[in-house]
Amino acid sequence: MSRRAATRGIVIHRAEVWGPTEYHFVVRRDGSVDSVVPLQDRAEHALVWNATTVAVAFEGCFAAGIKALHATPTREQLDSGEALIRGLLWWYGPRWLFVRGHTELGPTATRFLEKLVTSPPEADQSCPGTRFPLDTFRSACLTPWWPDGAH
Ligand SMILES: [Zn+2]
Repeated sequence: MSRRAATRGIVIHRAEVWGPTEYHFVVRRDGSVDSVVPLQDRAEHALVWNATTVAVAFEGCFAAGIKALHATPTREQLDSGEALIRGLLWWYGPRWLFVRGHTELGPTATRFLEKLVTSPPEADQSCPGTRFPLDTFRSACLTPWWPDGAH
């Protein structure tokens, strides 16, 4: 493992049983959070973005068009994930960090062959997947949690 040179953003993934497990954090179905890769180190999760981002993965398969037990994240997962990301934004400084889904980073973040082998062919290939409420979740994470004038 090596240290990250800088921290520019948080990348949201889905963690599937057959997918890679190189994330800083994995948010489990029951809302518990596993710290997998030390926060200051590089995690191999999004190619060229590994050097500058923190990876937060949610356990489950949120792709449309796939018959899966865990097609949507649980309330406990979203609440814990929001608390975790708010904490990271506080730690690094909210003005300096972006929060994006893995696929939103574009082709520099995803290996084509890896996608083919890690997802069933009928599944949508986006990450965290179309059944993850990314826009709503991100808005919740980015809503200021301190009252105006309190700092
Ligand atoms: Zn991903």
